[in-house]
Amino acid sequence: CGIIGYASARDDRPVLEVLSNGLSRLEYRGYDSAGVALAASEVSVYKREGEVTALEEQLPDAPVDALAGIGHTRWSTHGPPTDENAHPHTDCRDRVAVVHNGIVENYRELRAELEAAGHAFDSETDTEVIPHLIGAALEGGADADAAFRRAIERLEGSYAVAAVFRGCEAVYATRYRSPLVLGVDDRCALLASDVPAFLEYTDEVVYLEDGQFATIGPTGVEVRDRRGAPVDVSVETVDWNP
Ligand code: GLU
Repeated sequence: CGIIGYASARDDRPVLEVLSNGLSRLEYRGYDSAGVALAASEVSVYKREGEVTALEEQLPDAPVDALAGIGHTRWSTHGPPTDENAHPHTDCRDRVAVVHNGIVENYRELRAELEAAGHAFDSETDTEVIPHLIGAALEGGADADAAFRRAIERLEGSYAVAAVFRGCEAVYATRYRSPLVLGVDDRCALLASDVPAFLEYTDEVVYLEDGQFATIGPTGVEVRDRRGAPVDVSVETVDWNP
C-alpha cells in the first residue's frame, strides 16, 4: 500500500507519467488495487482492482493536461478488492479526489451522519467518508485548505491522506501514524509513502511528522502544524543506496 502525489509547472514531465512510475516503484509494499486522480478543470479518476499494469491499460495514451495528481496502491482493510473500492474516492460532485493509507476507525458513525445528510456512497471502504466530509465542508463555504483540515479533524485512526481539488494546482496531504515524505525539486513537488517512489526525480526530501499538514504546489512545499501555524522544515538530501 502506498501513495504518490505530484504538482508541477514543468511541461517536460507529464503528471500521469510521474504517478504511474511512482506506483510501479511502490509495488514492493504489496497491494491489490491501484488508481490515480488528475486535477484540471475537472477531476478525472482511473482505478482498478489488480496490478498497476492493468491500471496502465486503462489510462489515456494522449498527454493529459493536469495541474496536479495523486496515485494509490491499495491493501484493502475495509471492503474487498474491487474496482469500486479502489482509491481514489470522490465526493458526490467530483470536486475532490482522495487517497488514503491506514484505517478510519470511526467511519461507521461518520458514514451514517453523511448518509443522513444525503450523501450517496459508491464503495464499502472506510476511506470514502473523507471525500464526503471534504465535500460537505466545501458546500458550507470552506475553501480547499479549510475543507481538508475540517475533514481530517473528524477522523480517528491512522492515516496518510492526499487530496486534489477541481481547478486547483496543489496537492493537500497529512499523516498520522502512517508514513508520508515530501520531495522538492525545481518547479515541482512530490509526496509519497516512501522515498523510492520519487527518487528518480529528486533526492531532496522533507519528512512530514504526525499531525502535520502539507501543501505541495509548483512553487514548492508548505508545511503547517495541527493548528495551522507554519512550520520551518529542513530539507534533507537522502543518500539512498538500496
Ligand atoms: N482502509 C483503506 C481501504 O481499505 C486503505 C487501505 C490501504 O492502506 O491501502 O481501502
